[in-house]
Amino acid sequence: MRRGFTRPMTVAFVCDGCDRAVHLPADAPRGESACPGCGRGHRLLLVPSVLESRRVEGCLLCGLDRLYVQKDFNRKIGLAVFAVAALLSVPTWGLSLLAATLIDLALYHVLGDVTVCYGCGAQHRGFVRSPAHAAYDLHVAESIARRPKTA
Ligand SMILES: [Zn+2]
Ligand SMILES: [Zn+2]
Repeated sequence: MRRGFTRPMTVAFVCDGCDRAVHLPADAPRGESACPGCGRGHRLLLVPSVLESRRVEGCLLCGLDRLYVQKDFNRKIGLAVFAVAALLSVPTWGLSLLAATLIDLALYHVLGDVTVCYGCGAQHRGFVRSPAHAAYDLHVAESIARRPKTA
């Protein structure tokens, strides 16, 4: 299924049974997986067209079609890079901070996009970004938060 250099399609979310982060491969058999923490079964709302087009139009966990796209950037790694750079900046006359900025930029571009659900916060990685999804919008987030709970 994989063509060229593409990231595996995964959906990451917090287990509602034990609050652990769960990463589900979207191409797992029938999109099912058990939580490594509590064994609770999770199932993705997969339609074959999603796997073929690699495009996610709606949340694969809760089905909501309101999603936003952000850079898949790990803040912890970024901060660690800067912490080390700051320590090294005295002996290197600040060059390490420049290097850290460049590493930061490189990571930012290499990691690509992550599509996040406004409703349940599930993170979809390795998919093609849908033109229907824009950057995080506080107004949308608030309207989603205020929507009547169906579950
Ligand atoms: Zn769990
Ligand atoms: Zn969702």
